[in-house]
Amino acid sequence: MIVFLVPDVSPIQLQHLLELLQKHGLHGFQTEFDGRTVVLTTEIRSGYCANTPELQAALSDIPGIEKVVRVAEPYPLVARAAREERSRVQVGSLSLGNGTFGIIAGPCTVETEGQTLLTALAVKKAGANALRGGAFKPRSSPYAFQGLKEQGLKILAKAREETGLAIVTEAMSPEEVPLVAEYADVIQIGTRNAQNYRLLQAVGKIRKPVLLKRGFGCSLEEFLMSAEYILAGGNQQVILCERGIRTFESFTRFTLPLAVVPELRTKTHLPILVDPSHATGNGDFVIPMSAAATAVGADGLLIEVHPEPNAALCDGRQSLTFDEFEKLVRTCERIFPIAREEFSG
Ligand code: PEP
Ligand code: MN
Repeated sequence: MIVFLVPDVSPIQLQHLLELLQKHGLHGFQTEFDGRTVVLTTEIRSGYCANTPELQAALSDIPGIEKVVRVAEPYPLVARAAREERSRVQVGSLSLGNGTFGIIAGPCTVETEGQTLLTALAVKKAGANALRGGAFKPRSSPYAFQGLKEQGLKILAKAREETGLAIVTEAMSPEEVPLVAEYADVIQIGTRNAQNYRLLQAVGKIRKPVLLKRGFGCSLEEFLMSAEYILAGGNQQVILCERGIRTFESFTRFTLPLAVVPELRTKTHLPILVDPSHATGNGDFVIPMSAAATAVGADGLLIEVHPEPNAALCDGRQSLTFDEFEKLVRTCERIFPIAREEFSG
């Protein structure tokens, strides 16, 4: 259960609640959620929240409690039942989720100031809501370009100044989080770090939006448990991003399981993005799969765009040209209103 406390709960009332939970063999995990202090009734061995009628009865006459919400899932704060409405997360001027649609676009990696600014202007003109670009790059080879690091963050900040677009960029370790948070509007956690629990805890402590990608070897439940790590720290501004999983299929780089979108809409209140660029690894598939993702109810897209895909330092094959990106935006703009009508709520 999620126990929502009254805004002026006293330390003694809180202590009384925690002691009562202890008597029931439970641990009261305290955090912030929806502007309230909440206590989760966790079972320490399984991590599950206890939801028994006896516990509900025992809590019914404890002072300081506003309401109690029963959640069956092992990710109580992320679960759909935790909130009445689907959440929105601020990405620059766009409030992403629950009936709005956002496109985050830009190069895989920040290579030069010119490449980044040119791309930022082009994606803004086409209608993107935010600029993406890696300054710290997780590469399979230690010898491949690792990103411009702080210099890359400075270039992104300049692009924001020039275009007004919010900046989405990755942090790869807990130590990098404060520096990346200084420049970024949204911190990305990449697929390879989707279960780096210390990193998830580090971004749980800050008060900036986080774009969490699904681990390519993670089940949907594991993905949601990773999001729970961030919300457990009191940071509720989490955007989920499906970016493809590893399967036996090899004609695409990964496999994009689009049924995840309707499934996540029932499982969680968090906004859901789809990244068809990394999922397919092939620019030819990015527009059709963006259209499909929009049609099944995604709240937005993450798209790689490069002024000259063939010359890109990273992920060129899956990057769109400016013209292709413009076409993608126009296509999804037509589909979204129909999807919103079909899948709202
Ligand atoms: C990226 O967005 O450039 C990236 C590295 O993505 P992923 O972590 O999904 O591979
Ligand atoms: Mn990339």
